[in-house]
Amino acid sequence: MEHFDVIIMGGAIMGSATAYALLQERPALKVLIIERDPTYRRAATPLALGGVRQQFSERVNIRMARQSIETFEHFGELMETRAYGRPEIDFRQGGYLFLVSEEKWATAMENARVQLDEGVELKILSVDELRELLPDVDLTGVAGGTVCPREGLLDPQAVLGGYTAKVAEMGAVYRTDEVTGLKREGDRLVSCGTASGAEFSADYFVNAAGPWCREIMHMCDRDLPVEPLRHDIYVTRIDKQADIGLAYTTLPDTCWWFREHADGDTMLCGKTKLDFELGFDYSPDLPYFADVVWPSLAANSPSLDRVRLLGAWRGCYEFNTVDQNAIIGFDPEIQNLLLINGFSGHGMMQAPAAGRGVAELILHGAYQTLDLSELSAKRFETGALVVEKAII
Ligand SMILES: Cc1cc2nc3c(=O)[nH]c(=O)nc-3n(C[C@H](O)[C@H](O)[C@H](O)COP(=O)(O)OP(=O)(O)OC[C@H]3O[C@@H](n4cnc5c(N)ncnc54)[C@H](O)[C@@H]3O)c2cc1C
Repeated sequence: MEHFDVIIMGGAIMGSATAYALLQERPALKVLIIERDPTYRRAATPLALGGVRQQFSERVNIRMARQSIETFEHFGELMETRAYGRPEIDFRQGGYLFLVSEEKWATAMENARVQLDEGVELKILSVDELRELLPDVDLTGVAGGTVCPREGLLDPQAVLGGYTAKVAEMGAVYRTDEVTGLKREGDRLVSCGTASGAEFSADYFVNAAGPWCREIMHMCDRDLPVEPLRHDIYVTRIDKQADIGLAYTTLPDTCWWFREHADGDTMLCGKTKLDFELGFDYSPDLPYFADVVWPSLAANSPSLDRVRLLGAWRGCYEFNTVDQNAIIGFDPEIQNLLLINGFSGHGMMQAPAAGRGVAELILHGAYQTLDLSELSAKRFETGALVVEKAII
Protein backbone atom coordinates (compact mmCIF):
# COMPACT_ATOMS: atom_id res chain seq x y z
CA MET A 1 0.00 0.00 0.00
CA GLU A 2 1.46 3.36 -1.00
CA HIS A 3 1.96 5.76 1.90
CA PHE A 4 1.55 9.58 1.78
CA ASP A 5 2.18 12.28 4.33
CA VAL A 6 -1.23 13.78 3.62
CA ILE A 7 -4.26 12.50 1.72
CA ILE A 8 -6.79 15.13 0.68
CA MET A 9 -10.26 13.84 -0.14
CA GLY A 10 -11.84 16.22 -2.68
CA GLY A 11 -9.74 18.24 -5.11
CA ALA A 12 -11.66 21.47 -5.71
CA ILE A 13 -10.84 24.82 -4.09
CA MET A 14 -10.48 23.67 -0.46
CA GLY A 15 -8.44 20.59 -1.28
CA SER A 16 -6.20 22.47 -3.69
CA ALA A 17 -5.71 25.50 -1.42
CA THR A 18 -4.68 23.14 1.39
CA ALA A 19 -2.23 21.29 -0.85
CA TYR A 20 -0.78 24.60 -2.07
CA ALA A 21 -0.12 25.84 1.46
CA LEU A 22 1.38 22.49 2.49
CA LEU A 23 3.76 22.33 -0.45
CA GLN A 24 4.67 25.99 -0.30
CA GLU A 25 6.06 25.48 3.17
CA ARG A 26 7.28 21.87 2.83
CA PRO A 27 8.02 21.14 -0.88
CA ALA A 28 9.15 17.57 -0.22
CA LEU A 29 5.86 16.54 1.37
CA LYS A 30 4.07 13.61 -0.29
CA VAL A 31 0.53 14.82 -0.92
CA LEU A 32 -2.20 12.78 -2.62
CA ILE A 33 -5.41 14.49 -3.74
CA ILE A 34 -8.24 12.11 -4.56
CA GLU A 35 -10.89 13.75 -6.76
CA ARG A 36 -13.59 11.66 -8.36
CA ASP A 37 -14.58 14.14 -11.08
CA PRO A 38 -11.78 16.02 -12.83
CA THR A 39 -14.40 18.09 -14.70
CA TYR A 40 -15.81 19.35 -11.35
CA ARG A 41 -19.26 19.42 -12.98
CA ARG A 42 -21.26 19.40 -9.74
CA ALA A 43 -18.64 20.81 -7.39
CA ALA A 44 -19.59 24.05 -5.62
CA THR A 45 -16.40 25.78 -6.72
CA PRO A 46 -16.93 26.33 -10.46
CA LEU A 47 -20.64 26.97 -9.90
CA ALA A 48 -19.93 29.82 -7.47
CA LEU A 49 -20.50 33.45 -8.32
CA GLY A 50 -17.07 34.52 -7.23
CA GLY A 51 -18.10 37.31 -4.90
CA VAL A 52 -15.35 38.38 -2.51
CA ARG A 53 -16.18 40.57 0.48
CA GLN A 54 -14.88 41.42 3.93
CA GLN A 55 -18.18 42.80 5.18
CA PHE A 56 -18.88 40.25 7.90
CA SER A 57 -19.81 40.65 11.55
CA GLU A 58 -17.38 38.04 12.88
CA ARG A 59 -13.71 38.97 13.13
CA VAL A 60 -12.60 35.49 12.08
CA ASN A 61 -14.56 35.81 8.82
CA ILE A 62 -13.20 39.30 8.16
CA ARG A 63 -9.64 38.12 8.76
CA MET A 64 -9.97 35.08 6.52
CA ALA A 65 -11.41 37.22 3.73
CA ARG A 66 -8.63 39.80 4.13
CA GLN A 67 -5.88 37.21 3.96
CA SER A 68 -7.57 35.59 0.96
CA ILE A 69 -7.93 38.92 -0.87
CA GLU A 70 -4.16 39.35 -0.63
CA THR A 71 -3.78 36.00 -2.37
CA PHE A 72 -6.32 36.93 -5.06
CA GLU A 73 -4.61 40.29 -5.64
CA HIS A 74 -1.34 38.48 -6.40
CA PHE A 75 -2.86 35.29 -7.80
CA GLY A 76 -1.18 35.50 -11.21
CA GLU A 77 2.36 35.68 -9.78
CA LEU A 78 1.67 33.18 -7.01
CA MET A 79 0.16 30.53 -9.29
CA GLU A 80 2.41 30.99 -12.32
CA THR A 81 3.44 27.66 -13.82
CA ARG A 82 5.90 26.68 -16.52
CA ALA A 83 3.13 25.00 -18.49
CA TYR A 84 0.41 27.68 -18.37
CA GLY A 85 2.09 30.91 -17.31
CA ARG A 86 0.13 33.29 -15.09
CA PRO A 87 -3.57 32.53 -14.58
CA GLU A 88 -5.95 35.44 -15.17
CA ILE A 89 -8.78 35.33 -12.63
CA ASP A 90 -10.52 38.56 -13.67
CA PHE A 91 -10.58 39.96 -10.13
CA ARG A 92 -12.79 43.03 -10.58
CA GLN A 93 -12.44 45.04 -7.40
CA GLY A 94 -14.85 47.90 -7.00
CA GLY A 95 -17.09 46.96 -4.21
CA TYR A 96 -19.89 45.05 -2.73
CA LEU A 97 -22.59 47.63 -2.16
CA PHE A 98 -25.19 46.90 0.49
CA LEU A 99 -28.32 49.02 0.70
CA VAL A 100 -29.44 48.81 4.31
CA SER A 101 -32.99 49.24 5.60
CA GLU A 102 -33.81 51.48 8.56
CA GLU A 103 -34.61 48.36 10.56
CA LYS A 104 -31.15 46.83 9.98
CA TRP A 105 -29.12 50.04 10.12
CA ALA A 106 -28.06 49.69 13.78
CA THR A 107 -26.73 46.16 13.18
CA ALA A 108 -24.98 47.27 9.99
CA MET A 109 -23.26 50.08 11.91
CA GLU A 110 -22.20 47.65 14.67
CA ASN A 111 -20.70 45.42 11.97
CA ALA A 112 -19.08 48.46 10.34
CA ARG A 113 -17.33 49.36 13.60
CA VAL A 114 -15.83 45.87 13.80
CA GLN A 115 -14.83 45.94 10.12
CA LEU A 116 -13.15 49.33 10.40
CA ASP A 117 -11.37 48.16 13.53
CA GLU A 118 -10.03 45.21 11.51
CA GLY A 119 -8.70 47.57 8.84
CA VAL A 120 -11.42 47.01 6.24
CA GLU A 121 -11.48 49.92 3.75
CA LEU A 122 -15.21 50.42 4.34
CA LYS A 123 -17.18 53.46 3.25
CA ILE A 124 -20.49 54.28 4.87
CA LEU A 125 -22.80 56.00 2.39
CA SER A 126 -25.71 58.34 3.01
CA VAL A 127 -28.93 58.08 1.02
CA ASP A 128 -27.84 61.11 -1.03
CA GLU A 129 -24.58 59.40 -1.93
CA LEU A 130 -26.49 56.25 -2.85
CA ARG A 131 -28.80 58.29 -5.06
CA GLU A 132 -25.79 59.50 -7.01
CA LEU A 133 -24.46 55.97 -7.44
CA LEU A 134 -27.81 54.42 -8.33
CA PRO A 135 -30.06 57.17 -9.73
CA ASP A 136 -32.65 54.67 -10.95
CA VAL A 137 -33.11 52.74 -7.74
CA ASP A 138 -36.01 53.45 -5.39
CA LEU A 139 -34.44 54.17 -2.01
CA THR A 140 -37.65 54.30 0.02
CA GLY A 141 -37.01 52.70 3.41
CA VAL A 142 -33.23 52.68 2.85
CA ALA A 143 -31.24 54.28 5.68
CA GLY A 144 -27.87 54.21 3.94
CA GLY A 145 -25.33 51.84 2.48
CA THR A 146 -21.89 50.35 2.89
CA VAL A 147 -19.32 49.60 0.22
CA CYS A 148 -15.72 48.45 0.20
CA PRO A 149 -13.71 49.08 -2.99
CA ARG A 150 -11.26 46.27 -2.30
CA GLU A 151 -14.05 43.72 -2.55
CA GLY A 152 -15.43 42.47 -5.82
CA LEU A 153 -15.87 39.52 -8.11
CA LEU A 154 -13.57 36.97 -9.65
CA ASP A 155 -13.80 33.96 -11.92
CA PRO A 156 -14.05 30.86 -9.66
CA GLN A 157 -13.24 28.43 -12.46
CA ALA A 158 -10.04 30.32 -13.27
CA VAL A 159 -9.07 30.33 -9.58
CA LEU A 160 -9.60 26.58 -9.41
CA GLY A 161 -7.60 26.04 -12.62
CA GLY A 162 -4.80 28.23 -11.26
CA TYR A 163 -4.57 26.27 -8.04
CA THR A 164 -4.76 22.81 -9.60
CA ALA A 165 -2.08 23.58 -12.20
CA LYS A 166 0.23 25.06 -9.58
CA VAL A 167 -0.29 22.31 -7.05
CA ALA A 168 0.37 19.64 -9.68
CA GLU A 169 3.59 21.41 -10.68
CA MET A 170 4.59 21.61 -7.01
CA GLY A 171 4.43 17.82 -6.88
CA ALA A 172 1.02 16.88 -5.48
CA VAL A 173 -0.46 13.75 -7.02
CA TYR A 174 -4.02 14.22 -8.32
CA ARG A 175 -5.76 10.88 -8.66
CA THR A 176 -9.11 10.53 -10.41
CA ASP A 177 -10.90 8.14 -8.10
CA GLU A 178 -13.60 8.10 -5.45
CA VAL A 179 -12.92 7.61 -1.76
CA THR A 180 -15.32 4.84 -0.74
CA GLY A 181 -14.03 3.72 2.64
CA LEU A 182 -11.85 4.77 5.55
CA LYS A 183 -10.05 2.43 7.91
CA ARG A 184 -10.09 3.72 11.46
CA GLU A 185 -8.17 2.31 14.41
CA GLY A 186 -9.29 3.95 17.63
CA ASP A 187 -8.73 7.69 17.37
CA ARG A 188 -6.73 7.56 14.13
CA LEU A 189 -7.40 6.96 10.45
CA VAL A 190 -5.02 4.47 8.90
CA SER A 191 -5.97 4.27 5.25
CA CYS A 192 -8.57 5.04 2.63
CA GLY A 193 -9.99 2.75 -0.01
CA THR A 194 -11.23 3.88 -3.41
CA ALA A 195 -13.78 2.87 -6.04
CA SER A 196 -11.01 1.52 -8.27
CA GLY A 197 -9.95 -0.90 -5.51
CA ALA A 198 -6.81 1.01 -4.49
CA GLU A 199 -5.87 1.64 -0.87
CA PHE A 200 -3.55 4.36 0.46
CA SER A 201 -2.25 5.06 3.93
CA ALA A 202 -1.25 8.44 5.32
CA ASP A 203 -0.23 10.34 8.43
CA TYR A 204 -3.01 12.91 7.92
CA PHE A 205 -6.32 12.92 6.08
CA VAL A 206 -8.21 16.05 5.01
CA ASN A 207 -11.95 16.07 4.36
CA ALA A 208 -12.34 18.56 1.50
CA ALA A 209 -15.40 16.96 -0.04
CA GLY A 210 -17.59 20.09 -0.07
CA PRO A 211 -21.31 19.33 0.10
CA TRP A 212 -20.44 15.61 0.16
CA CYS A 213 -18.33 15.92 3.33
CA ARG A 214 -20.84 14.03 5.49
CA GLU A 215 -20.42 10.94 3.31
CA ILE A 216 -16.72 10.99 4.16
CA MET A 217 -17.53 11.42 7.88
CA HIS A 218 -19.92 8.48 7.83
CA MET A 219 -17.11 6.31 6.46
CA CYS A 220 -15.35 6.69 9.83
CA ASP A 221 -18.42 6.76 12.09
CA ARG A 222 -18.36 10.51 12.46
CA ASP A 223 -20.82 13.19 11.45
CA LEU A 224 -20.97 16.90 10.65
CA PRO A 225 -23.98 19.23 10.47
CA VAL A 226 -23.46 19.99 6.77
CA GLU A 227 -26.12 19.55 4.08
CA PRO A 228 -26.34 20.55 0.41
CA LEU A 229 -28.31 23.80 0.06
CA ARG A 230 -29.49 24.76 -3.42
CA HIS A 231 -28.63 28.20 -4.69
CA ASP A 232 -29.82 29.61 -8.01
CA ILE A 233 -28.21 32.25 -10.19
CA TYR A 234 -30.13 33.91 -13.02
CA VAL A 235 -28.50 35.25 -16.17
CA THR A 236 -30.43 38.14 -17.74
CA ARG A 237 -30.02 40.58 -20.59
CA ILE A 238 -30.40 44.24 -19.73
CA ASP A 239 -30.47 47.45 -21.68
CA LYS A 240 -26.80 48.28 -22.26
CA GLN A 241 -27.38 51.82 -21.03
CA ALA A 242 -29.18 50.68 -17.84
CA ASP A 243 -27.80 52.56 -14.88
CA ILE A 244 -27.34 49.71 -12.42
CA GLY A 245 -23.95 50.66 -10.98
CA LEU A 246 -20.72 48.75 -11.30
CA ALA A 247 -20.63 47.03 -7.95
CA TYR A 248 -22.29 43.88 -6.75
CA THR A 249 -25.43 45.48 -5.28
CA THR A 250 -27.70 43.98 -2.64
CA LEU A 251 -31.10 45.43 -1.76
CA PRO A 252 -32.50 45.27 1.78
CA ASP A 253 -34.78 42.41 0.69
CA THR A 254 -31.60 40.42 -0.31
CA CYS A 255 -32.26 40.72 -4.04
CA TRP A 256 -28.85 41.25 -5.67
CA TRP A 257 -27.38 41.94 -9.12
CA PHE A 258 -24.24 42.86 -11.00
CA ARG A 259 -23.11 43.28 -14.57
CA GLU A 260 -21.43 40.06 -15.65
CA HIS A 261 -18.83 41.99 -17.66
CA ALA A 262 -17.98 45.59 -16.87
CA ASP A 263 -19.36 47.01 -20.16
CA GLY A 264 -21.60 44.14 -21.28
CA ASP A 265 -25.37 43.75 -21.44
CA THR A 266 -25.72 40.66 -19.28
CA MET A 267 -26.59 40.88 -15.62
CA LEU A 268 -26.42 38.12 -13.03
CA CYS A 269 -29.00 38.30 -10.27
CA GLY A 270 -30.82 36.35 -7.61
CA LYS A 271 -32.35 36.53 -4.20
CA THR A 272 -31.31 34.59 -1.13
CA LYS A 273 -33.69 31.73 -0.48
CA LEU A 274 -32.83 29.80 2.63
CA ASP A 275 -35.98 27.73 2.66
CA PHE A 276 -34.98 25.58 -0.31
CA GLU A 277 -35.29 21.94 0.52
CA LEU A 278 -31.93 20.51 1.53
CA GLY A 279 -30.38 17.83 -0.69
CA PHE A 280 -28.75 17.62 -4.09
CA ASP A 281 -30.70 18.98 -7.04
CA TYR A 282 -29.20 20.86 -9.96
CA SER A 283 -32.30 22.17 -11.79
CA PRO A 284 -32.74 25.90 -11.16
CA ASP A 285 -36.13 27.14 -10.04
CA LEU A 286 -37.32 29.28 -12.99
CA PRO A 287 -40.73 30.16 -11.50
CA TYR A 288 -38.84 31.71 -8.56
CA PHE A 289 -37.30 34.18 -10.99
CA ALA A 290 -40.70 35.11 -12.46
CA ASP A 291 -42.57 35.16 -9.15
CA VAL A 292 -40.02 36.65 -6.76
CA VAL A 293 -36.74 37.91 -8.23
CA TRP A 294 -38.05 39.86 -11.20
CA PRO A 295 -40.88 41.56 -9.27
CA SER A 296 -38.37 42.65 -6.64
CA LEU A 297 -36.01 44.05 -9.29
CA ALA A 298 -38.83 45.78 -11.14
CA ALA A 299 -40.30 47.28 -7.99
CA ASN A 300 -36.95 48.81 -7.14
CA SER A 301 -35.76 50.14 -10.49
CA PRO A 302 -37.40 50.90 -13.84
CA SER A 303 -34.25 49.77 -15.68
CA LEU A 304 -34.54 46.40 -14.05
CA ASP A 305 -38.16 46.02 -15.10
CA ARG A 306 -36.96 45.31 -18.63
CA VAL A 307 -34.62 42.41 -17.91
CA ARG A 308 -34.95 39.34 -20.08
CA LEU A 309 -34.11 35.92 -18.64
CA LEU A 310 -31.43 34.16 -20.72
CA GLY A 311 -30.75 31.22 -18.46
CA ALA A 312 -29.96 30.09 -14.95
CA TRP A 313 -27.74 27.70 -13.07
CA ARG A 314 -27.82 26.05 -9.70
CA GLY A 315 -25.10 24.88 -7.37
CA CYS A 316 -25.21 23.38 -3.91
CA TYR A 317 -23.64 25.14 -0.93
CA GLU A 318 -21.99 23.00 1.73
CA PHE A 319 -24.40 24.44 4.28
CA ASN A 320 -23.62 24.28 7.99
CA THR A 321 -27.11 23.84 9.41
CA VAL A 322 -26.12 24.91 12.94
CA ASP A 323 -24.36 28.27 12.62
CA GLN A 324 -23.69 28.77 8.87
CA ASN A 325 -19.96 29.18 9.24
CA ALA A 326 -16.90 27.23 8.22
CA ILE A 327 -15.79 24.16 10.18
CA ILE A 328 -12.01 24.09 10.16
CA GLY A 329 -9.47 22.11 12.17
CA PHE A 330 -8.91 18.68 13.69
CA ASP A 331 -11.92 16.43 14.08
CA PRO A 332 -12.67 16.36 17.84
CA GLU A 333 -12.49 12.55 17.94
CA ILE A 334 -10.08 11.45 15.18
CA GLN A 335 -6.65 12.95 15.79
CA ASN A 336 -5.31 12.86 12.23
CA LEU A 337 -8.48 13.90 10.39
CA LEU A 338 -8.73 17.55 9.39
CA LEU A 339 -11.93 19.27 8.39
CA ILE A 340 -12.31 22.14 5.93
CA ASN A 341 -16.06 22.16 5.46
CA GLY A 342 -19.39 23.92 5.87
CA PHE A 343 -18.56 27.33 4.35
CA SER A 344 -22.24 28.02 3.63
CA GLY A 345 -21.86 30.26 0.58
CA HIS A 346 -18.66 32.11 1.46
CA GLY A 347 -16.03 29.48 0.79
CA MET A 348 -14.52 30.85 -2.39
CA MET A 349 -13.48 34.06 -0.65
CA GLN A 350 -12.11 32.19 2.37
CA ALA A 351 -10.36 29.29 0.66
CA PRO A 352 -6.76 30.59 0.56
CA ALA A 353 -6.81 31.42 4.29
CA ALA A 354 -8.68 28.25 5.23
CA GLY A 355 -6.25 26.05 3.29
CA ARG A 356 -3.34 27.78 4.93
CA GLY A 357 -4.84 27.25 8.37
CA VAL A 358 -5.28 23.52 7.79
CA ALA A 359 -1.73 23.25 6.45
CA GLU A 360 -0.40 25.02 9.57
CA LEU A 361 -2.22 22.56 11.82
CA ILE A 362 -0.69 19.65 9.93
CA LEU A 363 2.83 21.08 9.82
CA HIS A 364 3.01 22.78 13.23
CA GLY A 365 0.13 21.37 15.26
CA ALA A 366 -1.12 24.95 15.81
CA TYR A 367 -2.18 27.99 13.80
CA GLN A 368 0.72 30.28 12.84
CA THR A 369 -0.81 33.21 10.95
CA LEU A 370 -4.54 33.45 11.65
CA ASP A 371 -6.08 31.84 14.69
CA LEU A 372 -9.06 29.89 13.38
CA SER A 373 -9.61 27.84 16.56
CA GLU A 374 -13.12 29.14 17.11
CA LEU A 375 -14.14 27.44 13.86
CA SER A 376 -13.29 23.98 15.21
CA ALA A 377 -16.06 21.36 15.18
CA LYS A 378 -15.66 21.24 18.97
CA ARG A 379 -18.03 24.21 19.11
CA PHE A 380 -20.97 21.93 18.37
CA GLU A 381 -20.20 20.10 21.62
CA THR A 382 -19.37 23.13 23.75
CA GLY A 383 -22.10 25.37 22.34
CA ALA A 384 -19.62 28.17 21.55
CA LEU A 385 -21.23 28.75 18.15
CA VAL A 386 -19.95 31.35 15.67
CA VAL A 387 -23.01 33.19 14.45
CA GLU A 388 -22.45 35.48 11.46
CA LYS A 389 -24.92 38.38 11.27
CA ALA A 390 -23.92 39.48 7.77
CA ILE A 391 -25.08 36.45 5.80
CA ILE A 392 -26.65 37.19 2.41
C1 LIG B 1 -24.24 28.74 -6.58
C2 LIG B 1 -23.13 29.05 -5.63
C3 LIG B 1 -22.66 30.35 -5.51
C4 LIG B 1 -21.61 30.63 -4.64
N1 LIG B 1 -21.13 31.91 -4.60
C5 LIG B 1 -20.07 32.18 -3.81
C6 LIG B 1 -19.50 33.48 -3.81
O1 LIG B 1 -19.96 34.38 -4.51
N2 LIG B 1 -18.44 33.71 -3.00
C7 LIG B 1 -17.91 32.75 -2.20
O2 LIG B 1 -16.95 33.01 -1.47
N3 LIG B 1 -18.42 31.49 -2.20
C8 LIG B 1 -19.47 31.19 -2.97
N4 LIG B 1 -20.00 29.93 -2.98
C9 LIG B 1 -19.45 28.94 -2.04
C10 LIG B 1 -18.19 28.28 -2.58
O3 LIG B 1 -18.37 27.96 -3.92
C11 LIG B 1 -17.90 27.02 -1.76
O4 LIG B 1 -17.86 27.35 -0.39
C12 LIG B 1 -16.58 26.38 -2.14
O5 LIG B 1 -16.45 26.28 -3.54
C13 LIG B 1 -16.47 24.99 -1.53
O6 LIG B 1 -15.33 24.36 -2.05
P1 LIG B 1 -15.02 22.85 -1.72
O7 LIG B 1 -13.73 22.54 -2.35
O8 LIG B 1 -15.19 22.61 -0.27
O9 LIG B 1 -16.24 22.04 -2.37
P2 LIG B 1 -16.52 21.60 -3.87
O10 LIG B 1 -16.13 22.64 -4.83
O11 LIG B 1 -17.92 21.09 -3.92
O12 LIG B 1 -15.53 20.40 -4.06
C14 LIG B 1 -15.67 19.17 -3.39
C15 LIG B 1 -15.03 18.13 -4.27
O13 LIG B 1 -14.98 16.89 -3.58
C16 LIG B 1 -15.18 15.86 -4.53
N5 LIG B 1 -15.62 14.67 -3.79
C17 LIG B 1 -16.73 14.56 -3.02
N6 LIG B 1 -16.80 13.33 -2.49
C18 LIG B 1 -15.71 12.65 -2.92
C19 LIG B 1 -15.23 11.35 -2.72
N7 LIG B 1 -15.89 10.47 -1.94
N8 LIG B 1 -14.08 10.98 -3.33
C20 LIG B 1 -13.39 11.85 -4.12
N9 LIG B 1 -13.82 13.11 -4.36
C21 LIG B 1 -14.96 13.50 -3.75
C22 LIG B 1 -16.23 16.42 -5.47
O14 LIG B 1 -16.21 15.75 -6.72
C23 LIG B 1 -15.81 17.88 -5.56
O15 LIG B 1 -15.00 18.15 -6.67
C24 LIG B 1 -21.03 29.61 -3.85
C25 LIG B 1 -21.50 28.30 -3.96
C26 LIG B 1 -22.53 28.01 -4.85
C27 LIG B 1 -22.99 26.60 -4.96
